[in-house]
Amino acid sequence: MESNKTLWQLYKSKPLVLRIGIAFILGSLLGLFLGESVLVLEPLGTLFIKLLKMIIIPIVFLTLVAGMRSLTPSKLGKVGAQTVALYLITTAVAIVIGLFTANLIAPGIGLTLPLEAEIMTKEAPSLAEVFMNIVPSNPIAAFAEGNVLQTIFIAIVFGLALAVLQENAEGNIKSGVESIFNMIEAGAEAMFKIVWGVMEFGVIGVFALMASVFAKTGVDALVPFSKLIFSLLIAVIVHIAVTHLLVIVSGLLKQRPMGFLAGVKDAMLTALSIRSSSGTLPVSMANAENNLRIDEEIYSFTLPLGATINMDGTAMYQGVAAIFAANLIGQSLTIAQQATVVVTAVLASIGTAGVPGSGLIMLTLVLTQLGLPLSVVGFVAGIDPILDRFRTVNNVTGDLAVTALVAKWNDAIDFSSGSWKQ
Ligand code: ASP
Repeated sequence: MESNKTLWQLYKSKPLVLRIGIAFILGSLLGLFLGESVLVLEPLGTLFIKLLKMIIIPIVFLTLVAGMRSLTPSKLGKVGAQTVALYLITTAVAIVIGLFTANLIAPGIGLTLPLEAEIMTKEAPSLAEVFMNIVPSNPIAAFAEGNVLQTIFIAIVFGLALAVLQENAEGNIKSGVESIFNMIEAGAEAMFKIVWGVMEFGVIGVFALMASVFAKTGVDALVPFSKLIFSLLIAVIVHIAVTHLLVIVSGLLKQRPMGFLAGVKDAMLTALSIRSSSGTLPVSMANAENNLRIDEEIYSFTLPLGATINMDGTAMYQGVAAIFAANLIGQSLTIAQQATVVVTAVLASIGTAGVPGSGLIMLTLVLTQLGLPLSVVGFVAGIDPILDRFRTVNNVTGDLAVTALVAKWNDAIDFSSGSWKQ
């Protein structure tokens, strides 16, 4: 009994990502060496996927509406509009780069996984339909059908309406709005508790999924995983080099990219090691203040906002992973489906928190929206700590590049000192 307790304590004392990473490796080895006989474990993987599916719609709705509470519509003004527009545009560009790179590298090709075939039975919609489909004619039906894009739309509209009322209404309505926000915030917190519970079970789920994948496919399964990591890395480098450095720093700010990189390197390194853009926020702010010489009134608004709504790397990863998932079931994505990825990931990134691994939750949304197999989330969970590092660096660099541009447009940056002089 004593020793059981200590083993359990030892297990619980290790970080979850480490345990999932080890489950990934052990499950893969088990599948490789024992072959088909480990397929008895498969239901545990399926259970993990069902649990993930269960939380998608409530978490999207609750976190997005809760996020709108911090908006004060009347204060958004010019700086707010510029910042939000730039954040959304750069995120969309990031996804396109991710899709482009993944189309070229085709990370999942060469291996067809025998995944469940709920998949892509529906006709691919046209581009116009993708946009028309954002608006639900019946919100309850959107929830019940698990339509992610429509749920995002309802949440944003409802959250904005509450935010306006929070500012303007009085008396009963005002206190009612407060209560709704309180309840929704509590609900969102409860969902995160459930997510952690599901991820705890994910240690077993990922183990079972990997064992069955390798039992069915053998060593061949290693190649797609390396290609996935490589695709994301290339896409991140291209996005930072072209969008952030070439277009924003050289083109629009008329400064040298090295000056910018030198100024933000602490934030980039922190993001790389802690995998959280919210956690990196103090470092990003210090870099903006001391190195990029941006006025506090700008970065104190744009950087916290960016850590919450601007996720270039996370959104880009959705593109790469969607192509990976489609490849794994021997399909490719039509242009309209790729447009769906762009729209879903841009909107979903607004509600994704800058904490380690949140990109994985977002992946469940994007895969669900496309009708791609959710088991891919289980496969990539084991290598997510690697992918998450690249994503977070990209997220943080994007926040700082946009902040510098907004600062320049509002005359709130000093290019004659700090790291710009390099
Ligand atoms: N870890 C990322 C961040 O904090 C989010 C993610 O992609 O998982 O920015």
